[in-house]
Amino acid sequence: MRRTLPHAKLKMIGPWCFVDYFGPTPQTDGMVVAAHPHIGLQTVTWLLEGEIEHRDSLGSIQLIRPGQLNLMTAGSGIAHSEISNSTTDRLHAVQLWLALDEQHRNMAPAFEHHAELPKLSIAGGIAKVMIGEFGGTKSPATHFHPMVAAELRLSAGSHKISLNPKFENGLLVVAGDVSIREEAVMAADLKYVEAGASSIRVECASEVILLLLGGEPFGEKILMWWNFIARNQEEITQARAQWNARDLRFGAVFEDRVGGWIPAPDLPNVTLQPR
Ligand code: MN
Repeated sequence: MRRTLPHAKLKMIGPWCFVDYFGPTPQTDGMVVAAHPHIGLQTVTWLLEGEIEHRDSLGSIQLIRPGQLNLMTAGSGIAHSEISNSTTDRLHAVQLWLALDEQHRNMAPAFEHHAELPKLSIAGGIAKVMIGEFGGTKSPATHFHPMVAAELRLSAGSHKISLNPKFENGLLVVAGDVSIREEAVMAADLKYVEAGASSIRVECASEVILLLLGGEPFGEKILMWWNFIARNQEEITQARAQWNARDLRFGAVFEDRVGGWIPAPDLPNVTLQPR
């Protein structure tokens, strides 16, 4: 597993605040994550290979396959678990968090699954629009802050990718041999592109899969601790205590194939500061 965001020099890209890259790995080394809570964010699950079953405290039970989107809006509080299925050989997945803005961070939780997402042809390949709008094509996925997520599948060659100049963007390399702005970027690494750029040159030495993750600069300081996004330590302390007390803030206890739940760790001895 590899984490490219948050990073010492890069905390957020638009509302994107957390990127976890998983695999590719034999399915025997799959994903088993017991029930745990979230507040103040949306989680995005995207698969390249394998299958994962999601269950949550709203009663959702959803199998996700490659090319599909699971989007969970934690809002004021939700709990979920994930387990990969051994029906396929390999697991290759990306999990992302989106911070919710002040207006939406305490909303009621929700879960949505999109089995089909719109595709469009672009120079050098095909784009699948996961969230937001890309190249004039819109995803039906629920989002709040102006943003985009798209999977770009490119053939070998030199291609110009159009970007929304109002957005800062990240290009996460999922597979292939690629240079972006004349710099080689390895699989699982992310190339940051500042707001104002209306396109970027991508040199593909092979077939390449990229995730484009962008958005308008978020404009609010956030406090991220464990699985929570809040604005101050008081909110984090309260959410932590409520989860460990199995408070109904996070919904009813739900059955899953993992079993158990993950208690919140101890808080650090220093005051957590939003940034
Ligand atoms: Mn989670």
